Amino acid sequence: MAHFELHRSKINSSNAVGNDVKKIILGLLVSASALASSNKDVPTMSGKNGYVEPFQMFDNVYYIGDKWVSSYAIDTDNGLVIIDTLDYPYSRWIPINLKKLGLAGKPITHILITHGHSDHVGGAQLLQEMYGSKVVMTKSAHNLAIQQSNKSKGDNAFLPPALDIEIKNDSSMVINGHEFKFYLTPGHTEGDFSLDFTVEDKGIEYRAFVVGGHSVDGKDPKMIDQFLSSMEKIRKISLQPPIVKVNLSNHPHKNYLFENRDKLGTRGNPFISETNFFMFLKQQEHLAKKK
Ligand SMILES: [Zn+2]
Repeated sequence: MAHFELHRSKINSSNAVGNDVKKIILGLLVSASALASSNKDVPTMSGKNGYVEPFQMFDNVYYIGDKWVSSYAIDTDNGLVIIDTLDYPYSRWIPINLKKLGLAGKPITHILITHGHSDHVGGAQLLQEMYGSKVVMTKSAHNLAIQQSNKSKGDNAFLPPALDIEIKNDSSMVINGHEFKFYLTPGHTEGDFSLDFTVEDKGIEYRAFVVGGHSVDGKDPKMIDQFLSSMEKIRKISLQPPIVKVNLSNHPHKNYLFENRDKLGTRGNPFISETNFFMFLKQQEHLAKKK
């Protein structure tokens, strides 16, 4: 709550002053809030609270999420790209996790938000403000984020990010020299996008996929149909060579993330598994059809 109020007063006071002064005040407030956040605003980093030690999955991919929701940092030549930002205030673990991984000195240039639910967008505004990152979403996901923000309260109160880059259709974007493909895959919500990009393991490239929203929320037949056609679309795209081998699900229980983390360093990279990805698609379809 305290955090939310601080941000609200920041916005109000900055409207009344000139640009330069505004920047200075914002700068001061950001550093003040960064200091303040070093203790009281950061939820206790315990397993009971869902905290997970961050770890490296690939040469260029790190897990910085918690026990329930995934967040990934993709390391490019010129900065980090973050995929999803957790529920607020757990999002406050993200900068700490980056520091633990030795990535604190890198700018977060872009934040890709798969859909507008609070557990994915909750920390986007915070990170956008801290790092000056560009937030990438669909318009529909951004509208949902605003609604979710309006409903958020207490310790979970968060502000919606500014929408810097709107994904309007299936498209490709080169971010810091690294190509990310975006596909509209509605069904979980109207504004989901999925991501397709390359990860590297010991210098060898693999195609990775983030399905932007899994499972159908309600029993609306229209949404179920939409979801199933999105899953079919994803399957077709991912079977085109080189076939997708890495499932970067946006919830860790969906890609056996922790089980695979525990196998790291034994034999090969456990996150490289075509079966993991295509079984996941099948399971999602099965669950949707049951509704
Ligand atoms: Zn969701």
